Amino acid sequence: MVTLDRLSSEELMQLEDRYGAHNYHPLPVVLAKGEGVYVWDVEGKKYFDFLSAYSAVNQGHCHPKIVKALTDQAQTLTLTSRAFYNDTLGVYEKFVTEYFGFDKVLPMNTGAEAVETAIKIARKWGYEKKGVAENQAQIIVCEQNFHGRTTTIVSFSSDPDASTNFGPFTPGFIRIPYNDLDALAEAAKQPNVIGFLVEPIQGEAGVYVPNDGYLAGAKEICSKNNILFMADEVQTGIARTGKLLAVDHENVKPDILILGKAISGGVYPVSAVFANDDIMMVIKPGQHGSTFGGNPLAAKVAIAALEVVTEEKLAENAERLGKLFRAEMNRIIGQTDLIVKVRGKGLLNAIIVNDTEQSKTAWNLCVELKNNGLLAKPTHGNIIRFAPPLVMTEEQLMECVAIIEKTVLNFKK
Ligand code: PLP
Repeated sequence: MVTLDRLSSEELMQLEDRYGAHNYHPLPVVLAKGEGVYVWDVEGKKYFDFLSAYSAVNQGHCHPKIVKALTDQAQTLTLTSRAFYNDTLGVYEKFVTEYFGFDKVLPMNTGAEAVETAIKIARKWGYEKKGVAENQAQIIVCEQNFHGRTTTIVSFSSDPDASTNFGPFTPGFIRIPYNDLDALAEAAKQPNVIGFLVEPIQGEAGVYVPNDGYLAGAKEICSKNNILFMADEVQTGIARTGKLLAVDHENVKPDILILGKAISGGVYPVSAVFANDDIMMVIKPGQHGSTFGGNPLAAKVAIAALEVVTEEKLAENAERLGKLFRAEMNRIIGQTDLIVKVRGKGLLNAIIVNDTEQSKTAWNLCVELKNNGLLAKPTHGNIIRFAPPLVMTEEQLMECVAIIEKTVLNFKK
């Protein structure tokens, strides 16, 4: 028997290493508590969280309103399954569809499940509404995409880590370069294309922001060719990029919207797929579902989490602080050769470290940032993503900038 409350960071890391699958490579820090923009490790050291659980904790750690919604509902009713109606799901569905402006929502739990759901809806729409011949539907996706880790999703990944030795793969996907409208227009000419699945900013790939006009142009190509524009906003949605949705920067309305992560403020796994009736109603009873999808806890937590986004004006804060952050990073870049670039939108940003993709420089820089009280992690190779909770104040952001500046200027390769 292990007595958990007496273990050191070192011992806890050893436990994970010994008993857990090695499907992650965490930074060596063991967190025990979170509040707002801060987290604390087992030894009581305080850090700024500059990752926000991959943008799930946009509302800040343990937001009191969201935690209260969770604990109140947990003492009342947690799960009924969809075998029966319950008194929270319909209320949530009305709230959330009005919030995002769609006729219908299909509730799921994780981001990958929501992407899978969207693929199924789009395919069924393709056969039943667009008239594509059986089993011939194609969905256009982008190079360097990240939509999750299920077998179908890794089937269309261009990242060898995601796909190597996980075949055989699901067919029905055409991969084109990201941020390339000509490539999209060309691929859209193929007869059995039913959807274009895209991240409005490629987060995991390293925060690649497409050119202005890309999303609007892509939507136009989709509309002209009767192809569903499927926006995966699992990472970019819920105020992260300075608007409620990243597509809002170009006033684009997706045909299918995919959300996860911060729709629950990181308190509970909640994801959702939105579409209007002409698309969503192709799904009939028994054709898709999940035991936990739309359960009462999830419903209450998501309502509270989305209310926080509005009440605390998180999109506006992300927009304002994002501009300040990039300006400050550019000021630091002017003083060092270590960082070559900052890019991003709102509070989804990345800095590019001046070294090869294979080098350990970005990792080592993150270790130094950690030692100085700020937690971030490389996405790919030499790219470090910076995505703090959106409840951050300007004063706190400037403290973080000071930590980054000090760390970068003192860093020795
Ligand atoms: N889609 C995007 C754009 C993501 O960034 C992620 C996760 O990072 C996912 C889907 C998968 O979400 P989950 O890890 O909850 O399955």
